[in-house]
Order: sequence, then C-alpha cells, then structure tokens
Amino acid sequence: MASRREPKIKEIIIDGVRALVLDMGDVVVCDRCNRDRTNSHRSGGAIVSGQALCPKCFRACVSRLKGVPAADISICPRNVSFADHVRQFRLKTESGLGVLFKAKVLAP
Ligand SMILES: [Zn+2]
Repeated sequence: MASRREPKIKEIIIDGVRALVLDMGDVVVCDRCNRDRTNSHRSGGAIVSGQALCPKCFRACVSRLKGVPAADISICPRNVSFADHVRQFRLKTESGLGVLFKAKVLAP
C-alpha cells in the first residue's frame, strides 16, 4: 500500500509570479463544511467550479447549480469514493502537479 502524502506548502512560479501553493497531498476536505473525507469510502458529491462538495453538501446545494456550466461540474461516479474522485481530479488540474491550490502572490 502506498504511503499517504501529507499536505505541504510549496513556492512555485505561475506566469512569472512567485506564489505559495498549498498541496493537499492525499487529504480531502469538503470546501463547504470542512469535514475531513480523506478516509471515507462513501461515494457521491461533486467538484463544482474547482470546489470539492461532499455528498451531503452537494445534495444541499444541487438546486442552486442551474447557472453553472456543465463543464465546471464533475459529479462523483457511483463506484468511486468522493475522496478518490477529488484526488483523481487534482491530477487533471492545469498545474500538472497533482495540486489543487489557492495561490497567494508574494512581493516581488
Ligand atoms: Zn460538506
């Protein structure tokens, strides 16, 4: 069994700008309720405009997603846990680093 990747902060360059990046490693936390879902095997939920919504939060807000483009919604398949869905999504992000992040611009 592969070891778990722990969260860490990295400094990277994005479009010529230095930024701090929070690499969540294998940790999965709902972006709405902040509940840790890292070890949950429960399926459901979705990633909406880059935000991971656990099964409970996704059900609570699904009726308010009418204006969100379908391309910005990645619904968790039934045979995949929410945590694995989020980890797989991170691998597909534009950074190519397996990182889902919020960057903070540093002083030049
Ligand atoms: Zn939640």
